[in-house]
Amino acid sequence: MEAQRLRGCLLAGAIGDALGAKTEFDSIERIRELTGPAGITDFIPAYGGEGRFTDDTQMTLFTLEALIRAHAQQRQTGSADVVQSVQLAYQRWLHTQGVPWERARGPHSALAAADGELVTHAALFSRRAPGLTCFGELEAYGRSGVRGSVSRPVNNSKGCGGVMRVAPVALWSADPAEVFRLAAEFAALTHGHPSGYLSAGTFAVIVQRLLAGSPLLDAVATARAELARHPGHEEQEAALAQALAMSGPPTPERLAELGAGNVGETALSMSVYVALTTEDPDSALLAAVNHSGDSDSTGSVCGNLVGAMYGEAALRVSWLERLELRDVIIRLADDALAEFGPDSPSDEGWFTRYPVD
Ligand SMILES: [Mg+2]
Repeated sequence: MEAQRLRGCLLAGAIGDALGAKTEFDSIERIRELTGPAGITDFIPAYGGEGRFTDDTQMTLFTLEALIRAHAQQRQTGSADVVQSVQLAYQRWLHTQGVPWERARGPHSALAAADGELVTHAALFSRRAPGLTCFGELEAYGRSGVRGSVSRPVNNSKGCGGVMRVAPVALWSADPAEVFRLAAEFAALTHGHPSGYLSAGTFAVIVQRLLAGSPLLDAVATARAELARHPGHEEQEAALAQALAMSGPPTPERLAELGAGNVGETALSMSVYVALTTEDPDSALLAAVNHSGDSDSTGSVCGNLVGAMYGEAALRVSWLERLELRDVIIRLADDALAEFGPDSPSDEGWFTRYPVD
């Protein structure tokens, strides 16, 4: 896989998230009051500066760190539970949101402090309007140690907090069925409605095919075929079918016909529609945040798609330059390529950076 595409996927996701950070759930009328008739055309200061991303990107980075750790653990010890690694990574994220480690870590962990690489970055210790479902279910895991799953749903939520964080699952396997299954399980840790976790499975397969160089329509077709095999797929399938049937540029009005992006199935369908009807990442990222819905999440999900499609080099330089933690994102992407590549590192430093869970 091209490094360009993976870096692009993560960076554009973060850029889209940051472009929409200020206006999550603001109406398009309110956005235009804030920015002028053209709507959002650049970063708007939010959370203390320009280019600051939100929980969507924070959690995506923790997902990726977990995948690297589980893969390294598998090589080192011969076995790993990747779902558990992801749960523990989300507990570390919960800790960055202000929950003391003793309450966040969960009863199965005896670690005196959160470990690994991401928690060494102070800028991640910042609340950026974290999703209440994610927050509440991870707090509950901190108390009970009981994991949510597709077969044992933790609630009936189909919020977009599951889909928005799973783009990196694309790296785990070349098999779309396995990527789908794992992304759905990662989402089901906090979201128990089928549209909350099947959106995640579908999204991760699309990203996987894009990273492999497939055209978007082919990637979506592969993902829909996979989706159709899972119980409860009808709502996500209908949302995607509606997005594919729409034509014309992705105006705020057309996006509103698809939904608000605050639930899994429309966060994905709106993002696919924008990616299909734009011809460069700039216009896609701006269209993905200029609507009355959940702008940071559609910016993040659509950003993951178009970044994987067009690659890092196609992204606007002035956005990259002002993006928070850009170097951390790039290093994590490159570490993932190393871990999942043909010559995985085996030095002591690597296993200190990506320790056994
Ligand atoms: Mg957010």
